[in-house]
Amino acid sequence: MSLLILGSVALDTVKTPIEEHTDQLGGSASYAAVAASFFSPVNLVGIVGDDFPEEHLAFFKSRNVDLEGLQIVPGKTFRWSGEYMWDMNQRETRSVELNVFENFTPDLPESYRSARLVLLGNIAPALQHHVLDQLIRPHFVIADTMDLWINIAKEELLRLIARVDMLILNDSEARELTGETSLIRAGRLIREMGPSFVAIKKGEHGCLLFGENQFFSCPAYPLEDIHDPTGAGDCFAGGLAGYLASRHLSDVSLTEKKEIPFDIMRMAVVEGSVIASFNVESFSMDRLRTVTPAENVERFETFRTLSRFGAL
Ligand code: AMP
Repeated sequence: MSLLILGSVALDTVKTPIEEHTDQLGGSASYAAVAASFFSPVNLVGIVGDDFPEEHLAFFKSRNVDLEGLQIVPGKTFRWSGEYMWDMNQRETRSVELNVFENFTPDLPESYRSARLVLLGNIAPALQHHVLDQLIRPHFVIADTMDLWINIAKEELLRLIARVDMLILNDSEARELTGETSLIRAGRLIREMGPSFVAIKKGEHGCLLFGENQFFSCPAYPLEDIHDPTGAGDCFAGGLAGYLASRHLSDVSLTEKKEIPFDIMRMAVVEGSVIASFNVESFSMDRLRTVTPAENVERFETFRTLSRFGAL
């Protein structure tokens, strides 16, 4: 069973106070798929133009990312450009070129429709609905979003939130969506909108996970070298979803009932944070190309140490 991931596949131009990289592999689905591929095979749903470099397609394939659901059409690939300030938490979008995205309808290949685990990565809520409508009997659906959709497609987004099992968003988005300043209250309110689980990301300060009467605060990894924060949120979502998919494969009891135990969700949040922390160490997905299983385990253990205190 593969994890289905929908989102953007992009060519990004990213500028930091130190470096600028042009037309590099980016997009919410690309980051999420590569992050998830550490744990599970992935079926990717997206669109690119005929200018999309062959080497990126080969990279996806080398990571066990199936591309039957990736439409390659005449025209230019979606392009996004952003600039980071000295405070790498601050980013300005410099330009967005929708290109082939403008006429994108994510129709699923037949073999993708029976997906049990689904990540609706950051993309217009109408497209997220369209994919959900085609699924036969999904077991667990995660949705990611961004402030843009809260601003221009709030009603569709609220309808989507009511249909999914987990929502991932960042702290400012959670405040904007709910009108609450307290993230604890915001998390609780979003759960009341439908999803059993809500993860609120706090950038370099970690993440809050909300379940039914349960709460987990995942620490942040103390990174010294941040080169490019682009896609950290997508990698978090992809790593988390990939981990859940791998547990799904190995634990039959998980596939039989709707609820995923909170302990497994905690693990998924930490695995997502581990992958995201690697990703920001280099531009595009370059660091994810070199991460070894041993490095992954070592960083996971560091997260464990970070949240431990008192005599054990
Ligand atoms: P993040 O750093 O998590 O905000 O994600 C950055 C990625 O999102 C970049 O690789 C962009 O290509 C992609 N992106 C930016 N704007 C959009 C959008 N409106 N829809 C889908 N993907 C986008």
